[in-house]
Amino acid sequence: MYRGRLAPTPTGRLHLGHARTFWLAQARARAAGPGAKLVLRLEDLDPARCRPEFAAAAMEDLHWLGLQWDEGPDVGGPFAPYAQSQRREVYLDAWRRLRDGGFIYPCTRSRADVQRAAQAPHAEDEEAEPIYPLEWRPSRGTGREILVPSAAKANWRFRVPDGEVVEFCDALQGPQRFTAGKDFGDFLIWRRDDVPAYELAVVADDQAMQISEVVRGADLLRSTARQILIYRALGWEPPAWAHAPLLLDESGKRLAKRHDALSLAALRANGADPVALAAQFAKELN
Ligand code: GLU
Repeated sequence: MYRGRLAPTPTGRLHLGHARTFWLAQARARAAGPGAKLVLRLEDLDPARCRPEFAAAAMEDLHWLGLQWDEGPDVGGPFAPYAQSQRREVYLDAWRRLRDGGFIYPCTRSRADVQRAAQAPHAEDEEAEPIYPLEWRPSRGTGREILVPSAAKANWRFRVPDGEVVEFCDALQGPQRFTAGKDFGDFLIWRRDDVPAYELAVVADDQAMQISEVVRGADLLRSTARQILIYRALGWEPPAWAHAPLLLDESGKRLAKRHDALSLAALRANGADPVALAAQFAKELN
């Protein structure tokens, strides 16, 4: 049975790019036939950046666009709670399994340290994070692995299997191939400020909420490869993937990176017609 999700991060207002991806998520759920479910999950993990008023605004904007979900923070459902800020136990459980399996380690280097020490894997790729230097990776069984995140005061990282190829077939982008240790290095699982990292939270939630297909922006293709490694480590079956092409402005720049990215709020205030917008998305994405 198809189960999809909309996973907004409430750090600001939704823009046209989000709207298009979320519209596509709903279209794919509808095309899957009766019984398909769509879940709204608030990715409000980072207390320093997320705000409840943005969460409320995101849901309002999505309703304006004509989106409806079967489960979510406002309507409840069998896999509640639907806000990541309330799901710490789910993430701790996944973290514990990764720790006990020797898949992760605590590291005291900051992001800035890594930035200074490493080269981006592909300089032309702005999504690429620098590769965590292998010489900083501790050998197994250093003892610190017994700590829990809040006590470790460290960033927990996933020890990527160097050279392992991660392949998946994306419903929209075709076959994808990434090599661990080359296209990405040891990545964050839990932050030293005691916030679970995106990669861990999203895998733990998609598994717990029985999501069968993940629809999101193509900027997350590399993250998908990381997430597949987490699925493998935990012995879970990954969902299917559909990464929407990114919305670019006239100059070819990613819309999300523009300060004045067209917000749905602004479009609404200027009298935009949500039905016409949806028709435009349908045309662009078909
Ligand atoms: N919360 C992420 C975002 O708003 C999406 C993550 C995902 O769909 O996996 O960009």
